[in-house]
Amino acid sequence: RKAAAQAATSKEDLRSPICCIMGHVDTGKTKLLDKIRQTSVQEGEAGGITQQIGATFFPKQAILEKTAVVNKDGSYEIKIPGLLIIDTPGHESFRNMRSRGSSLCNIAILVVDITHGLEPQTIESLNLLRDRKTPFIVALNKIDRCYGWEPVPNGGFRESLAKQSKSTKSEFDDRVRKTILAFAEQGLNAKLFDENDDLRRNLSLVPTSAITGEGIPDMLMLLVKLTQERMSGNLMFMGELEATVLEVKVIEGLGTTIDVILSNGRLSEGDKIVLCGQDGQPVSAYVRHPEVKAALGVKISAPGLERALGGCRLYVAHDDDEVEVYKDMALEDLSDLSRFINPKAPGVWVQASTLGSLEALLEHLKLSKTPVRGSGIGPIYRKDILKAGLMLRRDETAHFAVVLGFDVPVDGDAADYAKKEGVKIFTDETIYRLGDQYLAYYNEVEEAKRKEAMPNAVWPVKLKILKAFAHRDPIILGVDIIDGSLRIGTPMGVVKIDKEKGTRDIVALGKVTSIEINHKPFEVVKKSQIGAGAAVKIERASHQTAKLFGRHFDDKDEVVSLISRQSIDVLKANFRDQVEPSDWSLIKKMKIEQGIP
Ligand code: GDP
Repeated sequence: RKAAAQAATSKEDLRSPICCIMGHVDTGKTKLLDKIRQTSVQEGEAGGITQQIGATFFPKQAILEKTAVVNKDGSYEIKIPGLLIIDTPGHESFRNMRSRGSSLCNIAILVVDITHGLEPQTIESLNLLRDRKTPFIVALNKIDRCYGWEPVPNGGFRESLAKQSKSTKSEFDDRVRKTILAFAEQGLNAKLFDENDDLRRNLSLVPTSAITGEGIPDMLMLLVKLTQERMSGNLMFMGELEATVLEVKVIEGLGTTIDVILSNGRLSEGDKIVLCGQDGQPVSAYVRHPEVKAALGVKISAPGLERALGGCRLYVAHDDDEVEVYKDMALEDLSDLSRFINPKAPGVWVQASTLGSLEALLEHLKLSKTPVRGSGIGPIYRKDILKAGLMLRRDETAHFAVVLGFDVPVDGDAADYAKKEGVKIFTDETIYRLGDQYLAYYNEVEEAKRKEAMPNAVWPVKLKILKAFAHRDPIILGVDIIDGSLRIGTPMGVVKIDKEKGTRDIVALGKVTSIEINHKPFEVVKKSQIGAGAAVKIERASHQTAKLFGRHFDDKDEVVSLISRQSIDVLKANFRDQVEPSDWSLIKKMKIEQGIP
C-alpha cells in the first residue's frame, strides 16, 4: 500500500527537508548562513534561492550550482527538491520546531569553532539533537584561522587543503585530532566527512570557513547525502499537515501575525487553523492565502492571533468536530511543560518568549535545581509580580520572590511595582546568564541568612576536661573532644542527672570565646585536629550567674554544647551542608540527655 501511495505521489509532491543551525555563541552560525545564501559574482545564476519568513529556501538548482565544485561530473544524484534552512540559528528556534516526540527539523548543522573545540553550548546542542534523534553534521568552522592559511574562495575542502603549507596542514590536522577526541569524550565517533563511510554510525566533520567560503560546497553536499540516506521514504513525500509557529509578531497594518514553518502538507485558503493560546485557551483562525505547500515559511495574519504562542504546533480543521479534537491536541503543547512546574511548592516564577524558549529555560533550571512554581509566555506583567510576591509571605521562601524573564520585556509599571513589593526581576537574552544571575542572587540571600542565623546555630560537641587553667570568670579549661566539633560562640554547660531523684539540672557556663592549640587560635576544632588537647575559654553573659570549677562542676563532668529546639532548626534551615551525618546522630543523643522534646 505504501509503495502504491508513493507511486501515486507525483514528482511535485516531494518535500524538502528542513535544516537548523546550532552551536556555541560566536562559532560563526550567522556568518555561515549569510555565506550559504550569498550568490557570488560567478554564481550569479545560482537562482531560485528565496528568502522566506524565518527561513531560506534553496531549490535543487541552487544546491546543484553551489555544490558543483565537489560534484563536478554530477555523479551524485540530488533527489530532494530543495532544502529549507531556518534563519535564526540556535537552540530556541530548534526547540520551537516542535513535533510529537521529535522535531520538525529533519537535519541540523552543529557549528564548532576549530580553534576552540567543544564549548558549553556545543554540548547542550549535542544533547538536544541526540534527545530528539535529529541527524546532524558538524561544520568545523574558521579553518582560515589556522596559521598561514591560503584561501581558495568558495573552494572544495580537499582542493583547498592541498594548497596549504606543511606547517599549516599540520596545525589543521592537530586541531581536527583534538576535536575528534573531544567528541569521543561525548561518546561520539567523529570522522572527517570524506573518511566517513557510515553516516549512520559516525558523525561527519566538515571543515569550513564562513569568511572564505571554503568547505561550504562540501557541507551542502553532505547535508544532501545525509538527508537522502537518513530520512525515511515517507518523510520525503508530502503527507499530512505539520506546522509550527516560529514567532508571534505585531506588524503595523496587519495586527498580530504568526510566522509559521510548514514542514509537511498544504495550507489552503479557507482552512481553519487551530493552535494553542498563551492563557491555555485554544486559538483558531481562517487562512486567507492561496494554497502553499511544504516546506516553507509563511506569515499568517488573522484576528485572534494575538494570543498565539510561539513554538506551538498548528493544526488545520476541516469541520467542527475536527476543531474540537485539534483544540485538545493544541493545548497539549502547553501541558507538556507542566512536568517542570510544581504550583504547590515554593519556587520562582518564569516568563519566556516562546514555548521553545520556555522549555529550554525550564530544563536549565531543573539542572541547576531551581524549583519553578509557575510560568508564562510573553512580557512580564504586574500580575506575574503579584504571583511571585506570594513567596514573600514566609521568610523561608523569600528568595523565590523572583521573576526570571528569558528574552521578554518588562511591561511599563511592572518594574516599579516589583520594587515596591520587594520582588526581584532578572532578565537576559541567554539562558546561561539568566540562570547565573539568579544563582548569584540566591547565594547572596543564603549567605546573608546564614550570617543572621549564625549566633543561633549550635553544633553538637562533647568535651572531656583534662585540666582547669582558670576556675571562674572566665573559665579556662584544657580539654579533649569526645565527639563533635568545638566552635567559637557555642554555648556550653554541664548536664547533671540524678537518676535516684529523677531530676535533670543544666548548669550553663557561658559561650566559647577562644580556642587555642599550642598557643595558636582556632575558630573551629574537630576531634582529629586536637592532638594533646585544646585550651578553651568560656565566658558568661552578664545575666548568667558565675559558675565555679570545683564547686558547680568538675573534671568528672562532660562539658557539652547546649542545644535547643530552635538551634536544631537553625542548623537544618541554614547550615545543612555544614553538618555531618555523625553530627546529626550526636544531636539525637544530646537531645535525649538535655531533655529536648
Ligand atoms: P554566531 O554567534 O555563531 O552566529 O557567530 P557569528 O556568525 O556572529 O560570528 C562570530 C564572529 O566570528 C564574527 O566576528 C565573524 O566574523 C567571525 N567568523 C565567523 N566565521 C568565521 C570564519 O570561518 N573564519 C573567521 N576567521 N572568522 C569567522
